[in-house]
Amino acid sequence: MTDDDAFRREIRAWLAANMTAELRGTGGVGRENEAFELRLAFARRLAAAGWSTLAWPVAHGGRGASLSQQVIFHEEYARAGAPSRVDHIGTTMVGPTLIEMGTRAQQRRFLPALAAVEDLWCQGYSEPGAGSDLAGVTTRARLVGDRWVISGQKVWTSLAHVADWCFVLARTAPAPAGGPRSAGLSYLLVPMRQPGVTVRPIRQLTGDSEFNEVFFDDAVTEAGLVVGEPGQGWRVAMATLAYERGAATVGQQVGFQRDLDDLVAVARSTGAAADPALRERLTRAWIDLTVLRSHTLRILRESAPAAPSVIKLLWTRWRQGLGELAMDVLAHGDADPAAVRRWETYFLFSRADTIYGGSNEIQRGIIAERVLGLPRQARG
Ligand SMILES: Cc1cc2nc3c(=O)[nH]c(=O)nc-3n(C[C@H](O)[C@H](O)[C@H](O)COP(=O)(O)OP(=O)(O)OC[C@H]3O[C@@H](n4cnc5c(N)ncnc54)[C@H](O)[C@@H]3O)c2cc1C
Repeated sequence: MTDDDAFRREIRAWLAANMTAELRGTGGVGRENEAFELRLAFARRLAAAGWSTLAWPVAHGGRGASLSQQVIFHEEYARAGAPSRVDHIGTTMVGPTLIEMGTRAQQRRFLPALAAVEDLWCQGYSEPGAGSDLAGVTTRARLVGDRWVISGQKVWTSLAHVADWCFVLARTAPAPAGGPRSAGLSYLLVPMRQPGVTVRPIRQLTGDSEFNEVFFDDAVTEAGLVVGEPGQGWRVAMATLAYERGAATVGQQVGFQRDLDDLVAVARSTGAAADPALRERLTRAWIDLTVLRSHTLRILRESAPAAPSVIKLLWTRWRQGLGELAMDVLAHGDADPAAVRRWETYFLFSRADTIYGGSNEIQRGIIAERVLGLPRQARG
């Protein structure tokens, strides 16, 4: 038996012992609030068994798992129908960023609670006037004695309503004349549960509220909770985004197979599977998914140029395509009402895939400039 086989057996056994019927298939994009408390408890059990931080280095409490072991974990996790993770912003975005760029003191303070899913995190980048043009953030932080005092507004802040901490991109110094606008921004770690922070839910197209407006009115955080040098937060913010768009999507993509299997089951139950055009499209979705998954792994293994951008472009196109196909499958016959609701939510939410984590237009811009060497886009 190879190490990978043994690893597969280990995670499979753990899931068999810990998964329950009520957790099966819960959560996911567009359904982040579903069975939240149950999923939180499950995430903590997963963490206690050392699975949540599988990819982290051993020195930081992880298992230092290889890419193939990470893939095996996600395959087994999806096969067991285990719930979507409530801790992904912490364990796959800010955790790796702190490991790469945080101070020893920050690592000692935050990584254990983050790994144990005791602290939940949210991402405070976007603002009403700054999304794609992230360097335009106007939230300000000034150092007063031993604390940063923060004022401004963030928007689209996923899971802020349950988060204990937020990593906030804020301006701490003016951009230098003639220098890059991103200079003078800092990456601050800010506690969410304090009087200066107000979280207001935003109702989405799906009817749910997974993201929020967040208002900082003289909110405070300790002077030492800036990651990287003050004013040099852009590099840190970009590192977090690369984690979001890159390897973190492997797990998500493994779940795509389950989505496709579910849609095939709906098509069978309604007779849509007998329609030649729908059969053809379902088959093509399977082929595209097979290609997508092997491309993603190759791109990651080879650290291909602009890998996170390429990966994001590939999977978002597939998921939106599946949402559109689902609508055509549902139109064909009477599906179970729960399946109709599930696929409506999927379709509606998938429209956001090409926006969050940096829009697809921005990803193509990154590839155009950094890989093809095309001239920088003129700012309108
Ligand atoms: C479901 C969801 C969850 C999110 N969660 C978070 C979160 O947790 N934290 C957070 O900080 N943000 C979050 N966001 C915000 C997300 O990062 C922004 O929506 C995104 O960066 C786009 O910014 P914007 O909405 O301001 O659109 P804009 O930047 O105003 O863009 C509008 C349109 O113009 C296009 N465009 C803009 N600039 C260019 C250009 N230079 N070239 C070509 N096209 C361009 C864009 O692609 C887009 O189609 C979330 C968004 C969604 C949809």
